[in-house]
Amino acid sequence: AKQMGRDCAVAYRSTFEQDTAARLTLISQLREALRLQQFVLHFQPIMAPDGRTVGLEALVRWQHPERGLLPPGEFIEECERSGLIVPLGRWVMLEAGRVAGLLRAAGHALRISVNVSALQLRQSLLEDARDVVAQHDLAPGMIELELTESSVMGDPAAGVQIMRALRDLGFEVAIDDFGTGFSSLAYLKRLPINRLKIDRGFVCDIPGDSEDAEICHSIIRLAQTLGLKTVAEGVETQAQHDWLVAQGCDELQGFLFARPMPIDALHAWLAERRAA
Ligand code: C2E
Ligand code: CA
Ligand code: CA
Ligand code: CA
Repeated sequence: AKQMGRDCAVAYRSTFEQDTAARLTLISQLREALRLQQFVLHFQPIMAPDGRTVGLEALVRWQHPERGLLPPGEFIEECERSGLIVPLGRWVMLEAGRVAGLLRAAGHALRISVNVSALQLRQSLLEDARDVVAQHDLAPGMIELELTESSVMGDPAAGVQIMRALRDLGFEVAIDDFGTGFSSLAYLKRLPINRLKIDRGFVCDIPGDSEDAEICHSIIRLAQTLGLKTVAEGVETQAQHDWLVAQGCDELQGFLFARPMPIDALHAWLAERRAA
């Protein structure tokens, strides 16, 4: 038993050390990736019920030199843990603004939504947001900041103050993944926000699942009561779309319309729909 205990301890320590070594490697690769501009943005359209494209969500990917195009699930968490999310989030903001400017020049005045982490919210968001509109001569209302309940609630007083400053400057603010966090209704009422994004988890089984349908219905009603717009994420079927629109959902996003795509594909997608 003693021998086994020692083996376990050794095994544990070495996996721990391997994990730590792997993390350190990843962090230094991520730092290099920022320096070498290996990150790219893909854009997913956000639609009005009448089929118009009203916005785009910017979603980051890592063009890894050996492993190919990596989704954010592979690296965002490590960026958050290491603090690299602050410079990465700033890059995402400035790149999204650059694309918003290009699209506007091509005749597509679309709102661009950018995901913001808790650390970026507190450390640099106000400056990043001011810089993007100045650098690309954008109206602040063209930029929407997507914050999660938990990123706001971590330190609500500080977070809300920054959100209010952003709102006063004319930026749009959305609560992402709404319904998965723990924000109290009392707080929600006081948050300076424009939109609630209904989490994909509540959308995937509607209209068949009566509990999820009731949750979506309640979120839409709550938003209407508070004077907020709703966006449903993860809309994959026409049945989901039709049901959400009938409930009064304002905007929809999901594979039913388009997957997130790089800028060239986005240009083609927008041109094709304008021609139609
Ligand atoms: P999110 O903000 O909830 O983004 C929506 C995710 O749902 C995206 O995954 C998108 O590809 C996926 N999606 C969209 N429509 C559908 C659908 O119809 N069905 C299904 N099954 N999925 C759909 P992605 O791009 O892998 O991003 C994952 C998460 O990574 C995002 O979730 C967001 O939390 C985070 N993220 C992405 N880009 C950034 C960024 O620039 N900064 C920060 N801080 N986080 C980011
Ligand atoms: Ca989002
Ligand atoms: Ca979301
Ligand atoms: Ca999500």
